[in-house]
Amino acid sequence: MLIGGEWRRAAAGEEIEVVNPATEDVVGSVPSAGTQDVELAVETAKRAFPEWSATDVEHRAGILAKAATLIEERAKDLAATLTAEQGKPVLEARGEVTHLAHGVRFYAEAATKVRGAYQDLPSAFGPAYGMVIRRPMGVCAAITPYNFPLTLLGTKVAPALASGNTVVAKPASTTPLATLEVARIFAEAGVPDGVLNVVTGRGADIGDVLVGHPDVRRIAFTGETGTGRHIMGIAGPQLKRVTLELGGSDPVIVCADADVDAAVKAVIIGRYWNAGQACLGCKRVFVHDSVYDAFVSQLVERVGRYEPGDGTVKAEKPKLRMGPIHTRKGRDELLAQIEDGVAHGGEVLIGGGTGSGDKGFFLEPAVVAEPGDESRLVTEEVFGPVLPVFRFGDFDDAIRRANDTPYGLGSSIWTHDARLIHRAAQEIDAGMTWVNQIHYGYDELPFGGVKDSGFGKEHGIEALDSYVETKSVVVGGLG
Ligand code: NAD
Repeated sequence: MLIGGEWRRAAAGEEIEVVNPATEDVVGSVPSAGTQDVELAVETAKRAFPEWSATDVEHRAGILAKAATLIEERAKDLAATLTAEQGKPVLEARGEVTHLAHGVRFYAEAATKVRGAYQDLPSAFGPAYGMVIRRPMGVCAAITPYNFPLTLLGTKVAPALASGNTVVAKPASTTPLATLEVARIFAEAGVPDGVLNVVTGRGADIGDVLVGHPDVRRIAFTGETGTGRHIMGIAGPQLKRVTLELGGSDPVIVCADADVDAAVKAVIIGRYWNAGQACLGCKRVFVHDSVYDAFVSQLVERVGRYEPGDGTVKAEKPKLRMGPIHTRKGRDELLAQIEDGVAHGGEVLIGGGTGSGDKGFFLEPAVVAEPGDESRLVTEEVFGPVLPVFRFGDFDDAIRRANDTPYGLGSSIWTHDARLIHRAAQEIDAGMTWVNQIHYGYDELPFGGVKDSGFGKEHGIEALDSYVETKSVVVGGLG
């Protein structure tokens, strides 16, 4: 772990093995932190805060820009680590590293452009003016999940450091290795000791200590809705600032006039990238009756090109590599969800098997036609390469079903009809709606969910707002 610039073992000496989900080989081990380690990390971050927050903003921005460059230079190694611990194919891992560098550079540039405000004031108590200034908060906890360990680290650490805070990051216990490499890069880029600390360990062991520590003022969490609720239960009474990026079940509406070919291609990436382990993703597709058959036949044909396997080995063209599900438990959950979909009237059009190999948590990507509204494929988040597709005739009905979920992260619509686009933008309960576009989280745009998908924004200039407190200053005694 990295605490105060030192690479440390856990105080209790315990370790966690990191397993490659494609081979089930142990690829590394990291300290299993305990309460004492977390407390040390928070105290260290607290001590580093006054100097870092007072550091010249251009200097801070320069360090982040250097970190982005180093990440790009080390992309190959970082991607290899990511593939080994997470399972995703090298191509996808490279994409994640590129996205991380882009996000860090975005906040390097944004750091020097944060402005406050000036306000003329009534002179009832004498001439005065007001200023709205923005102050960093202190120690921020950055808690990340296993599916995109690096980009989701970047969306927290970069705006936090850019605005003068210090950080204790906690990666998922199954994907800590690439995070530690990135922390090393930040240190090499010039982030002073104690400003970015990383504790490794199981959420169940140390999560509560980190979240509940009185010196942690800001918590940025990405993970499951249940974990988010638990964190809120601890942070709420302490009135901490929290952003929760939680689960999703994004609807896609494909209208009668849609470019079916483009929609299929985007849905394929949106559902099967990262073996479907994405918060944003095409998780329920509603297709207009008139284009349903064309859409589904193209979808099934393309899904058939995927070949689940070890992410370090390229598939032979025209096959496409899909990595494993990250854990055996995750795959079992998906199998149970498919079974439940069939029990509720769904038809598996392709996929759903586990392959013939005896190692690795693989799942053949699946398409399930018309599972009933009560099925788990509809009511729960499906965190893997399984896509339910549904027919619709009436647009009102499509919108109603799109919203019939506890989640509200992303959504998309495929049409060129301005009225339908307007209705989707206004009526779908979600943090984002893409129009004729793939579900992708741009660094430039605020991103976050509603309902059980959480609250608060990451990405965009808006994310900086959640790492600063605004303070009003009244200046009087002017005349
Ligand atoms: P998870 O909730 O199991 O774990 C996320 C992180 O929380 C890990 O670091 C874990 O160790 C930690 N944690 C566990 N218990 C904790 C506790 N009591 N206190 C503090 N931290 C604790 O999530 P996961 O299975 O790793 O990730 C998958 C989930 O993340 C999916 O639901 C997915 O939709 C969601 N996700 C959301 C977004 C988004 O931006 N909305 C992005 C990616 C993933």
